[in-house]
Amino acid sequence: MAHLSLRGVGKTYAGSTQPAVSGIDIEIEDGEFIVLVGPSGCGKSTLLRMVAGLETITDGEVRIGDRLVNKLDPAERDIAMVFQNYALYPHMTVRDNMAYGLKNRGESRQVIEERVAEAARMLELGPYLDRKPRALSGGQRQRVAMGRAIVRQPAAFLFDEPLSNLDAKLRVSMRMEIRKLQKRLATTSLYVTHDQLEAMTLADRLVVLNGGRVEQIGAPLEIYRSP
Ligand code: ADP
Ligand code: ADP
Repeated sequence: MAHLSLRGVGKTYAGSTQPAVSGIDIEIEDGEFIVLVGPSGCGKSTLLRMVAGLETITDGEVRIGDRLVNKLDPAERDIAMVFQNYALYPHMTVRDNMAYGLKNRGESRQVIEERVAEAARMLELGPYLDRKPRALSGGQRQRVAMGRAIVRQPAAFLFDEPLSNLDAKLRVSMRMEIRKLQKRLATTSLYVTHDQLEAMTLADRLVVLNGGRVEQIGAPLEIYRSP
């Protein structure tokens, strides 16, 4: 559990004259679910990747709790990210996909087994633990990707359009599932989407980005209130 704080965060890609994002100030409270929205190219993914440590931060500070994480590797940030394309290891079973991060950081077998079992219960993946990702539906794969994030019990979750590869019906049910998980786990989250319903359903607060800057921050109803 931790708050996540972005202060004056900016990114200018190498070889680029214009910053992709700049002057980003966002304070995410402990346990708060923030959804980042805005038109294509406004910098959502750049911002998320900087927080994740997948992209260098050229200006400003990112803090998780009281730790400045600008220079830390992704694995040292205590953050778990869920990707649009699931990013599962195709040759590993569901169980091993979920256990991988924990094994890597040297957790005991008992802790790994307990956490995988608990996540499998939460996500109703019990019957699929010994399957490979290719034997799963899209929705099940995305649940495995979430399971892999959950077992790490990170200080924060990052979501990069996790539902956009799913068909419309599944998107609705997964949206509700994420909402349930969010209530249960209350982990600080930053969630990128371009789906307005997803944003409305999930967000404690919305951040609207435009042209690489924060245009608005507020509760969904303040932002989507009809004029
Ligand atoms: P969004 O996720 O909101 O669609 P992005 O973060 O992908 O926006 O892109 C923000 C801006 O940064 C865009 O102008 C995009 O062209 C630029 N950009 C993204 N990735 C790179 C990169 N690797 N190198 C140079 N420019 C990039
Ligand atoms: P950690 O779990 O400590 O972040 P990993 O080696 O498991 O380290 O993963 C590094 C990053 O690559 C993570 O963000 C993870 O989600 C992503 N990843 C894992 N598997 C794949 C894959 N098959 N393809 C692309 N990215 C992946």
